[in-house]
Amino acid sequence: MSEDFVEIIEVSPRDGIQNDEKILPATIKLELIKRAVDAGADRIEATSFVNPKRVPQMADADEVANNLPRGTATRFIGLTLNRRGFDRAVAAKLDEANFVVVATDTFNQRNQGVPTAESITAFGEIMRDAPSDIKVGVTIGAAFGCPFEGEVPLNRLMDVVDACAAFGPHEIALADTIGVAVPKDVTERVTAVRRAYPDLPVRLHLHNTRNTGFANAWAGLEAGARSLDASLGGVGGCPFAPRATGNIATEDLLYMLERSGVHTNMALDAAIEAAKWLEAQLDKTVPGQVMKAGGFPSPEAGEAAA
Ligand code: ZN
Repeated sequence: MSEDFVEIIEVSPRDGIQNDEKILPATIKLELIKRAVDAGADRIEATSFVNPKRVPQMADADEVANNLPRGTATRFIGLTLNRRGFDRAVAAKLDEANFVVVATDTFNQRNQGVPTAESITAFGEIMRDAPSDIKVGVTIGAAFGCPFEGEVPLNRLMDVVDACAAFGPHEIALADTIGVAVPKDVTERVTAVRRAYPDLPVRLHLHNTRNTGFANAWAGLEAGARSLDASLGGVGGCPFAPRATGNIATEDLLYMLERSGVHTNMALDAAIEAAKWLEAQLDKTVPGQVMKAGGFPSPEAGEAAA
């Protein structure tokens, strides 16, 4: 990937709606995915294969995964927390599985029922047994701070990164699950991973909980991350993290990147339309701002100035 290109991973069908009290039917989830495909998303985190008793919003994961709009350049990811979830992602013939390991034991225990070391072991077994037609990446949750344990020291994060990297994932994602990072943290941690593993692509998963998400995205790009997660309208949250709010909004991110000369494969207009559509489906105001303000210059600007 060139320096002036950023890959966008649309996560609204998974992170975006998993925390909403309104449970969208599979048909609406698939329409959302179709709109993200049409807007040009490089990858879409389509669903998560988790226990439906714990995350009822994802109870239809298999139905969604089996009806994805295939046949374009967009690749589909399934989130998995354990072997059972991974096997479901394989059965659904997803392009990629994204395995989550949380950097702190308390959060890992809440999120997936075992301490961090057990999730790392499970990840290693998955990497060993994964069929060749599915890519496997890893997301390190709470990489910048934990709702239960507080600060996550850099050496703790790097211990988890080292353990996961040893198994050979195709990429490593650092997740600011509860949106506490500031640009300095992102620069520090992305740089540390890039230095330790120059050939391992770094992806960033950012929440805008404290309004630092876009500054963090920019810091991450400058430090060498080339893939960014975002969700249409900025929807999202985590069912197991208190007060977690949405991801950085896809269309706001596109606006910032485009106006800065950083290219993506997504179309801003289509993303804005998709965000408005999603807002109507959720029946509540979503955090995205460019969907309200519009792009710039607006198509009517010439007439207005005349
Ligand atoms: Zn998230």
